[in-house]
Amino acid sequence: MTQLRLDPLTGRWVVVSVERADRPQAFQARCLPVQTDLDRPCPFCPGNEESTPPALETYGASGRWLVRVTPNLFPAFVGDNPLVVSHLGPVFTQAGASGIHEVLVLSPEHDADWGDVSEEQAGLIMAAIRDRIEEHSSHPALRYSQVIVNAGREAGASIEHPHGQLLGMPFVPRELADEQAGFARYSGNCLLCTAVDAEEMAAHRVVHADDRVLVVCPFWSGMPFEMLLIPRAHDPHLYRAQPRDLAAVGRAIRTSISLLRHRIGDVAYNVVFHSAPYRASGPYHWHVHLWPKITALAGFELGTGVLINVVAPEVAAGELRAAVAVS
Ligand SMILES: [Zn+2]
Ligand SMILES: [Zn+2]
Ligand SMILES: [Zn+2]
Repeated sequence: MTQLRLDPLTGRWVVVSVERADRPQAFQARCLPVQTDLDRPCPFCPGNEESTPPALETYGASGRWLVRVTPNLFPAFVGDNPLVVSHLGPVFTQAGASGIHEVLVLSPEHDADWGDVSEEQAGLIMAAIRDRIEEHSSHPALRYSQVIVNAGREAGASIEHPHGQLLGMPFVPRELADEQAGFARYSGNCLLCTAVDAEEMAAHRVVHADDRVLVVCPFWSGMPFEMLLIPRAHDPHLYRAQPRDLAAVGRAIRTSISLLRHRIGDVAYNVVFHSAPYRASGPYHWHVHLWPKITALAGFELGTGVLINVVAPEVAAGELRAAVAVS
């Protein structure tokens, strides 16, 4: 049986093809190498700090950095100008891409990604993300920070050493605006506070739970083994969250990636942080998406924006929970 399920965050329908859900073992671990130029020294390893611009911030007590933030050498957004839109013709509209683009080196260890780091390290990474978003928010021309981690070539990583990116943007991107509209449209209390209660009640899509955070394969999952990490403490803004909630989310990301790896192998994935635009006052609840890259977006998905998920989230969550037993 195939079902349509509504993603209340974005307002989009997803297709869940339940009859194919008994074949998740068809997924392959990734095989494409991230870096082909293996002779080049890694710019993010300790000792090679000169190959990046000077650090904006480092974390770690003993003089040896554990997390490092630097400007991106090839920024997509740069400069402090407000968004000025010019019309060059009836259908040609452009604006300067001012903003901030930074690299977040997650660890001094070249081979340890977020699934391998210590609990303390996971907490430091989240503290760095919080601090940078707060700094971005002080720029009057900027409105929103997008924080991402791409791991694996299939997920867009071009450097193997585990790292993320922090982008301060002069506009609110479409995905965020859609989610803001989803929160505003929801007639109950908070959409994600309600999702926490409802998913815990249903129980079979829960991957991990502790007293600060819930990880589920959400009811409306558009991709196999997609996970949503929701802090229990309601706050629209990541950068205003309590340190203990940030640390708990950092640990939950570590657990989720580790479970995914136990279940599927060395899979590429994207971690996406969603937080309200700095000065937004409408309803929102910050959260983290974990999207494993195990199926390709093809013509139908690109042409319609409709995702077809071949693994029901109920099955995916069950398999991830089972991976705990063997981890
Ligand atoms: Zn490295
Ligand atoms: Zn909430
Ligand atoms: Zn989101």
